[in-house]
Amino acid sequence: MTLTSALTDKLSEKRIVVAGGFIGGKWNTVSSRGKVFRVANPATGEVLAQISDLSTHATREAIDAAHAAQPGWAALSAKARADKLKALHRLMVENANDLARLLTLEQGKPFAEAKGEILYGAAYIEWFAEEARRVYGDTIPGHQADKRIMVIKQPVGVVGLITPWNFPNAMLARKLAPALAVGCTVVAKPAAETPLSALAIARLMEWAGFPPGVFNVVPGTDAAAIGQELCANPKVAKISFTGSTNVGKILMRQCADGVKRMSMELGGNAPFIVFEDADLDAAVEGAMVSKFRNAGQTCVCANRIYVHADLYDAFAEKLAAKMEKLRLGNGLEKDVTTGPLINEKAIEKVEALLADASEHGARISAIGDRPEGALFYPTTLVTGATGDMRIAREEIFGPVAPLFRFETTEEVIALANATEFGLAAYFYARDISKVYKVAEALEYGIIGINTGIISTEVAPFGGVKQSGFGREGSKYGIEDYLDIKYLCLSV
Ligand code: NAP
Repeated sequence: MTLTSALTDKLSEKRIVVAGGFIGGKWNTVSSRGKVFRVANPATGEVLAQISDLSTHATREAIDAAHAAQPGWAALSAKARADKLKALHRLMVENANDLARLLTLEQGKPFAEAKGEILYGAAYIEWFAEEARRVYGDTIPGHQADKRIMVIKQPVGVVGLITPWNFPNAMLARKLAPALAVGCTVVAKPAAETPLSALAIARLMEWAGFPPGVFNVVPGTDAAAIGQELCANPKVAKISFTGSTNVGKILMRQCADGVKRMSMELGGNAPFIVFEDADLDAAVEGAMVSKFRNAGQTCVCANRIYVHADLYDAFAEKLAAKMEKLRLGNGLEKDVTTGPLINEKAIEKVEALLADASEHGARISAIGDRPEGALFYPTTLVTGATGDMRIAREEIFGPVAPLFRFETTEEVIALANATEFGLAAYFYARDISKVYKVAEALEYGIIGINTGIISTEVAPFGGVKQSGFGREGSKYGIEDYLDIKYLCLSV
């Protein structure tokens, strides 16, 4: 239950994080099992913190606290809830440098990217603070002369939020903001690799004066036990999960008995298509940001880059030239553009995908240096990639860019859609009629057209097929935390 100097020496506000769970407004720094777990910097291996390893018992306590706090929180005016969220937003922005350093230390992404994530997460808090006061109902002409019909919207209740390590701040912010805005209370379970960013949010919420129990965090390594309790406990009305499709399916099965509401932000396998009429330089630029942000560890990363045969060689050459400028290293060092992968398993997965691609005839070119440190993976270009390779079917989650060649629009749309995933897709083209047709034909929840960056709090983020359901951000995002109730009044 300690923070080490490898962490605190880098923070100007050292009280911003506490090494324990946050339950009912109190810091729980002692696990009933007497266990702690370590959080380490993936760039250096240094231990940053030892955190109380909480499990079922603490999860139940957190659910009880959230359940007790929910009616009072929901009874506040929307403006009162919005004011608290605005205070949280202000604190996130004021402490953005410390939050970003914390994020770089536990997750590895470069400081500039980490700060971008903090401000992106804060933007959701601000957006849903604003949306809190716009949860409108409806009146409907009655079906009989004496009937008046009204529709009101109410918070679903206690929500369980389970989030991954790749965006430890923003994935949580995207969920907690709409939940709290409408009057739900929250029990959050962050990824064991990166719990510090979630605990820092809890700290800022404490400082912002949120009532005890409104927001609870249960850090722990026994994800299955914590998840099971959140899914099975009847006091939890809804689960919102961001993570892998496999874990999403486990949670769906566990929630089936209670017919619990769910939002699922799951895995992706994004196609990135460069048509023959694309602006080549813009497409290369878009591929760079879409592919290499967070060292390729995002759910919306370009996973399969399809390039028209006419542009293939020129695109590969220009992309390789840009990739040479990337600099791998410790994200707190100046000019570093690409951090380490999160753990050994991630390295092994990338290596296995590349070995398979090589066996199937692809050309693998590691570009740039690989710094000291076991978790750095060199940025890698794969040419001659084909559909029979694992790399075409699985999320790479590493800084590897596979280029596939195509000839016709029909062919590439079929290839792009030949996956069980449906989160984000990108394409570059200038013919306006093709732009419409391709956008409509791609079976994805999010389409980037002539851009590699699609995330913003004002737009609905989410997938189709096995990438999940529900939307985060925008006016649609708030609906995920509301129940519709219809009132029929006889006059
Ligand atoms: P993961 O293994 O599914 O883990 C995500 C979260 O689920 C973590 O908090 C993890 O805890 C927890 N978890 C693991 N097993 C669990 C269980 N049996 N019951 C309850 N919770 C459990 O995913 P990941 O590999 O960390 O994250 C990467 C995945 O997330 C990728 O597939 C990526 O595409 C997806 N993702 C999707 C979006 C989106 O918006 N669609 C955004 C970001 C990431 P521990 O870490 O403690 O094991």
